[in-house]
Amino acid sequence: MKYPPSIERVFDSNGWFDLISFSIDELEKENLLLIIEEKPYLQDSYGNFRGYFSEDVGVCVASKNEYWPLVLVHEMAHFLIWKQNDKHLDFGPNMLLDKWLEGGDIDNLYETILSCMDDELLAERKAVEILQQFNIPYDIDVYIQDANAYMFFWCWVYDHRKWDNKVANSRKVINLCCNYFLENPEAYMLDYHKNHKLRLAMNEAHDAGKS
Ligand SMILES: [Zn+2]
Repeated sequence: MKYPPSIERVFDSNGWFDLISFSIDELEKENLLLIIEEKPYLQDSYGNFRGYFSEDVGVCVASKNEYWPLVLVHEMAHFLIWKQNDKHLDFGPNMLLDKWLEGGDIDNLYETILSCMDDELLAERKAVEILQQFNIPYDIDVYIQDANAYMFFWCWVYDHRKWDNKVANSRKVINLCCNYFLENPEAYMLDYHKNHKLRLAMNEAHDAGKS
C-alpha cells in the first residue's frame, strides 16, 4: 500500500487502529489529548501546517487530507521523544524561527534553523520506528523520501524566509529525495545547496501556488 488509508478506512487496519489507541492512552497518562480537527490543515500567522505536539494540549492533527495518519505518527514521535527526554522541550528555536518568519530579526539564524531541523530529524527517525513497531502497512522507503522532502524544505525556508507547505508536499520534490536519512542537518544543507534540480523543483512548487 502506497498511501495511508482514508479516514473511513483507518480503523479497518490493525496497525493504524493500534497506533491510535496507543496514542490516546499514552497522551492520557500525561493528561494530554489527541485532537483530530476535521479540516484540511491547521493555520498559523505565517502559514498552514498539518499537525503539532504541544506539552500543554497534546497532539493535534488536521484530518481532511490523505496524509493525516502519517502526520499523527510524526507528532506522536515528538511526544514520545519529549516523554523520553524527561519532558524537556526547548521551544526556543521554533519561537525564534516564528519571529523571523513574521519579519522580525534574530541572531544566529543558521544555528536556529539547524536546531529546529535536528528536532525534526530525530522525530522522523522515531516515526520510522513507530511505523515498524505497529506494523503499519506503509512503505518505509516512501515514508523516508517524504521525510527527506520535509527536511530539505527547512533548507528552502532558510533561503526564502517563507513557510509554504506545497514545497514539501510536491510529488516532484519528493521523487528527487533519497530513501535513507542523511547524517545530520548540516548534511541536508550541503546537499540542498549542491542540488540544483531539487531547488528548482521546490521553487516551481512554490510558484505553482501563486495566482
Ligand atoms: Zn515535527
